[in-house]
Amino acid sequence: MSQRVLCPCRGNPDCKLCFGTKVYTYEPTDRGWMPFTCPTCAGKKEVTTDGKTEPCFTCLGAGTVDPALPPRDTSTRGFVRDVWRIFFGG
Ligand SMILES: [Zn+2]
Ligand SMILES: [Zn+2]
Repeated sequence: MSQRVLCPCRGNPDCKLCFGTKVYTYEPTDRGWMPFTCPTCAGKKEVTTDGKTEPCFTCLGAGTVDPALPPRDTSTRGFVRDVWRIFFGG
């Protein structure tokens, strides 16, 4: 079953992974969640925009995207805070 994963590009419309939607779908392989070659830079780690070469915004210069390590989401912090409140009544 495919999973929805947060894209590291934070919604760049030039992203070939999520097309600016911030979320892409990923289907875990039979070996689990495997890093795959970045479709935006094709593994070259950098992209050329208006003649300027910069680190790729999809893989953040890594060349591959690891679906098991999506960018940190602030909702996780909200969850921790709620648990704290339950335990300590704050
Ligand atoms: Zn993206
Ligand atoms: Zn890339």
